[in-house]
Amino acid sequence: MIVVLKPNTTEEELNAVVQEIKNLKYEPHILRGVELNVIAAIGDERTHHTLETLTVFPQVERVMPVQSRYKLVKRQVHPANSVIQVDHRVPIGGKKFQVMAGPCSVENEKQLLTTALAVKKAGATILRGGAFKPRTSPYEFQGLGQEGLKLLAKAKQETGLAVITELLSEQHAELVAEYADILQIGTRNAQNFQLLIAAAKTGRPVLLKRGLSMRIEEWLLAGEYVIANGNPNLLFCERGIRTFETYTRNTLDLSAIPIIQQESHCPIVIDPSQGAGRADLVMAMCKGAVAMGADALLIEVHPNPAEAWSDGAQQITLDGFARLMQELKPFIAVAGRE
Ligand code: PEP
Ligand code: MN
Repeated sequence: MIVVLKPNTTEEELNAVVQEIKNLKYEPHILRGVELNVIAAIGDERTHHTLETLTVFPQVERVMPVQSRYKLVKRQVHPANSVIQVDHRVPIGGKKFQVMAGPCSVENEKQLLTTALAVKKAGATILRGGAFKPRTSPYEFQGLGQEGLKLLAKAKQETGLAVITELLSEQHAELVAEYADILQIGTRNAQNFQLLIAAAKTGRPVLLKRGLSMRIEEWLLAGEYVIANGNPNLLFCERGIRTFETYTRNTLDLSAIPIIQQESHCPIVIDPSQGAGRADLVMAMCKGAVAMGADALLIEVHPNPAEAWSDGAQQITLDGFARLMQELKPFIAVAGRE
């Protein structure tokens, strides 16, 4: 850690901080500057008392980590892009661009199968659909639960599409992992660390959505929980963050694509549906995301969005999805993907 002292700190005040660093079992190294002094404190924070509390000294300006707080998600530990194999056959993060599509919620067999067949025909490789739904209101449709998972299994069997579905609760980790080829951790649970650990331990790839008001560092650290618990199959998914804007439900932060790619070796997925909450904006956001180098898209598609049981305003139609896939082709090529 680096401890920055305020200008005009006396020797006595400096020594008091040095002594406290020693008391906390770190090794202090004083770096004297013209205007201010800095102390480098060497030690491992995992086995020691944290040094952040040194800010209780009025002569301490700030305490900063030398290294980033995340380690295993970091690009440096794995300079090449990680390619995550979904269901042992659908790679995400490599040359091949992937599209995951399907309804927000699994509602019934006809709705799911109709959608699955249509998105498969248009070129999607992974079927999305929520069986356990994290609804803001307890009076809204909460998902079909295990029955929804069974319908996803049936759709997989009939179409060959791999399946992504949300894991809401630790208690369902084993159950959901039986049906899902990717476990989705939703925005509302992005810092539910026990859930992240439970998801990691299933061994299934984990798609970690960005929390509603999560900083990128916090998101990377949440991802760190997955890899640190023995599961390297981690995907980050930007789905919009909460801002002051009211024209859109969320503000899709496309700058997350190059930032995640600089900071991490894990693939970055864009969800334009929760991203803006508006079906009419999905096409443009997908084009932007592909051009900026995203590895995959997660798109909500419904046979009749007006009658959807959740997120009707942001789901695109089956025809709309087919058109989108056509229009994305040149963007995928320009991005150097297939
Ligand atoms: C969803 O994908 O339907 C969903 C609930 O996502 P988020 O967690 O991003 O809101
Ligand atoms: Mn949704």
